[in-house]
Amino acid sequence: MTHDANCIFCKIVAGQIPAKKAYEDDQLLAFHDIAPWAPVHVLIIPKQHLVSHYDVSAEHEALLGRILVLAPRLMRELGVTNGFRTLINTGQDGHQEVQHLHVHVMGGPRPWLRG
Ligand code: 5GP
Ligand code: ZN
Repeated sequence: MTHDANCIFCKIVAGQIPAKKAYEDDQLLAFHDIAPWAPVHVLIIPKQHLVSHYDVSAEHEALLGRILVLAPRLMRELGVTNGFRTLINTGQDGHQEVQHLHVHVMGGPRPWLRG
């Protein structure tokens, strides 16, 4: 599985940096954002290092589908029953800060800090 030793999210996958995990399987990891915009704000990431949404191709279709199937299940498990937002920031103009593909999933009662 692709891994970048300098990538903060790869370090979370490897257990080298702590994170509050919400879900884990062989391909995916979900953890709570360190600076949440909403009462519930998780990041779902592939364990393999993909820099951004630009780096996906047909071989990643199942992986990406898995992320979108996980999102509502995770929200329900975390008590989010009144809706949520799903967001992917890609590249510089997309305001992507961490260069490892991640899907933001945010929910909980408003008002939210952002988003
Ligand atoms: P981006 O702007 O790249 O889409 O969002 C990156 C997100 O990762 C931000 O919301 C930021 O708060 C979160 N983040 C950055 N570093 C860490 C970290 O070390 N741990 C956790 N849990 N979240 C992080
Ligand atoms: Zn990475």
